[in-house]
Amino acid sequence: MIGRYLRESSYLNLPEFFYSLIQTDPAPHPEWAVFNRSLARDLGMDFEEDQDDLLILSGSQPPPPGLRVLAQAYSGHQFGHFTKLGDGRAAVLGEVQAPDGTIWELQLKGSGPTPYARRGDGKAVLGPMLREHAIGEYLHALGIPTTRALSVVLTGEPVWREAFKPGAVVCRAAKSHLRVGTFEHASYFGGPEQLRLLADFAIQRHYPHLIGEPHPYIEFVRQVGQAQADLVARWMALGFIHGVMNTDNVAISGQSIDFGPCAFMEEYRSDRRFSSIDTEGRYAWGRQPAIAAWNHARFSEALIPLLADDETRALEVAQTLSDEFGTWMLASLRRHFGFKLGFENYKEGDDELLNQLLVFMEKTQADYTTTFRGLTDFLAGRVDRPPIENGDWLLRWQRRTESSPEPLASMEAANPRRIPRNWILQDALDTAEAGDLGPYLELASHLRDPWGDDFERSPRTPRRPFVTFCGT
Ligand code: AMP
Ligand code: MG
Repeated sequence: MIGRYLRESSYLNLPEFFYSLIQTDPAPHPEWAVFNRSLARDLGMDFEEDQDDLLILSGSQPPPPGLRVLAQAYSGHQFGHFTKLGDGRAAVLGEVQAPDGTIWELQLKGSGPTPYARRGDGKAVLGPMLREHAIGEYLHALGIPTTRALSVVLTGEPVWREAFKPGAVVCRAAKSHLRVGTFEHASYFGGPEQLRLLADFAIQRHYPHLIGEPHPYIEFVRQVGQAQADLVARWMALGFIHGVMNTDNVAISGQSIDFGPCAFMEEYRSDRRFSSIDTEGRYAWGRQPAIAAWNHARFSEALIPLLADDETRALEVAQTLSDEFGTWMLASLRRHFGFKLGFENYKEGDDELLNQLLVFMEKTQADYTTTFRGLTDFLAGRVDRPPIENGDWLLRWQRRTESSPEPLASMEAANPRRIPRNWILQDALDTAEAGDLGPYLELASHLRDPWGDDFERSPRTPRRPFVTFCGT
């Protein structure tokens, strides 16, 4: 019984400005699609999921008596434009405390419209909710900070998108759902007092070591930025394209969140993008570090009232914090790309080696994952042929690895063999929506082992440009 482990979300300690109490819609015929036992165990919940859990996790039955369910208020810059948003189709059920002491908030998504739904129906469909599960578990298997899906439940209600599709509700676990957009909301629609309460809450939750520091808010902005820089560098190294890095999708915890239009790079191109609405390539693979910096500048700006008593001084501090981001980002990129090439001690001169490789990969349309994996196997002596035919580069790279303590160990860890191949995942999601969950469940279990053999690379669906969609 999940109810035994749930307690009321501590987010409710914030003023009502930050949320609305809501009720979720009952599902006509709830049915399990996925229950993530390994996550339940990680969160310290030891139970066999039963009918009551199905009712709670589909939104059909409220959590145990007394727990208030809420939708969070937030704003955000979407594709550069500031808008008032909020959880239009999400409901926070409560929180659980994992054995290591970390608090995780459990949130349903797709359980009906909230006061923030604007014109949305508040619903979700199966494919995109399974995608939340697949991507979260895959990133988690690689040790990349991420929100994860505890369950996906079919509601039995058809939901209209471009056709009727099976309705579903995901239960997402996150260290919190605080985002840059929550701070923008407090700053621009609340005031300094709301902002301070929110910042104190976030520090207590995610950066408790800052309590009692001489400048906790400045350090808070800095550490949130550093966590983002490291996260985005890890996405980059993996070939992951988030697809919708709006400030409302940037989690203060440093976890990856919202996998609607994300996808993985196959043939390497620095301007690779998949989202149907990202016509300008704002969120293309190679733009992600710059966008992360832009988002961090919005975060620093929102915090201005807390950065110093004097406004001019506060502006200067915000500017410095924004400027520093580039340094953190570069350091994180070098660290994670260094691991991919076998250099634990990345040196400035290594930029040239990396850039030459990427230029070469782009020219030859090399597969991102198999190229780095091929270099790893080549260095390990597992294969005779290197993945790229550039003798001069290979020689210089091999020589460079000799001055790194354990090149192979870092390459093994940084270069998985498996990624969720876009069409293979899409085929499995389409099949699930057509009524057969089998291929999806098999794929999901393969994705838990990123170092297993690569998938068959030719998908069943004939190759056409892969496109992803938001707001699904
Ligand atoms: P997302 O693209 O998932 O980050 O969502 C952006 C905003 O649109 C958030 O405020 C969501 O709650 C809202 N939203 C997305 N889909 C729906 C929907 N079907 N019904 C209501 N609100 C939605
Ligand atoms: Mg979002």
